[in-house]
Amino acid sequence: MRSVADMLAGIDPPLAPGCNSLGRLLADLDSHQCRFPLRGEAALTRFCAVEVSAADWLPGFSGGSYCTFHRRISEGRGTDAERAASRVLERLG
Ligand SMILES: [Zn+2]
Repeated sequence: MRSVADMLAGIDPPLAPGCNSLGRLLADLDSHQCRFPLRGEAALTRFCAVEVSAADWLPGFSGGSYCTFHRRISEGRGTDAERAASRVLERLG
């Protein structure tokens, strides 16, 4: 299992199928390419760069600039309040 130190050091980052294992610098990314950081820091951070379909490209939303693989692994269960939000909205509805 990866430790937090491994994650910060970019050791064994989770790679999407078809992902270039070296990743790309932000300046080299085209639009609609996954922005999941794989390794490196600041301007030398390398990103996944797998193509994201226009339908799935939702920058500004959680995971909206990640490929399907990285979107899936970045999703959590949410807090209790986040998980209860839909029930609260139904009651208010
Ligand atoms: Zn990705």
